[in-house]
Amino acid sequence: MITIICDNCERELELEDKAAGTKVACPHCGDINRVPEASAEAAAPAPDKATAAGLPADSGPEQTVRTLRPCMVRARPLSFSGVALGMIAGLVGVVMGLSTEGRTWLAILGGFVAVVGFGVLFVWWLKTMSAALVITNKRTIQKKGILARSSSEVVHDNIRNIQIDQTFWQRVWGVGSIGISSSGQDGIEIQLNDLKGPGEIRKVIDLYRPL
Ligand SMILES: [Zn+2]
Repeated sequence: MITIICDNCERELELEDKAAGTKVACPHCGDINRVPEASAEAAAPAPDKATAAGLPADSGPEQTVRTLRPCMVRARPLSFSGVALGMIAGLVGVVMGLSTEGRTWLAILGGFVAVVGFGVLFVWWLKTMSAALVITNKRTIQKKGILARSSSEVVHDNIRNIQIDQTFWQRVWGVGSIGISSSGQDGIEIQLNDLKGPGEIRKVIDLYRPL
């Protein structure tokens, strides 16, 4: 149904859809009214950028699009290799110390190095797992902490700037930091380092921005 207001008597006229683009006489006063064409927008809604990219639509209920965590190995490949090699050397020391008489000190030293190396990796892993960036079709949320959690968020419609920072070595390893600021408040509200493929992440968020 199409509803128009008569130009002359200003009464509401209810017409069939097929009357769009024609002229009709008002049943009340007889005045000829032009019925507007059915608009293209009403007929077929504009395709959604996100849907076109195979992601959840911008409209509709909130859905998680991506959950991202900082990289551990890629972020610091040299430190990671160093700690891993130290642990292996420590374990080799334990085996050699135990299999050779009079080398108990080597086994103790090796065991100590291996335990410290494991502790370092475990704390590092906990830190990595405690940070996350959750992108939904409405917002981007930064989460921090394991036991005590805090989060901050930016609504995609309010994003003013997405900043990506990569050092030379971060570019080589394909990681970087991403900072998102909104038009609502000053400064960067979301900042997460050591994310894999920061450019790709920005493209996903851009799909949900009114650009
Ligand atoms: Zn009329």
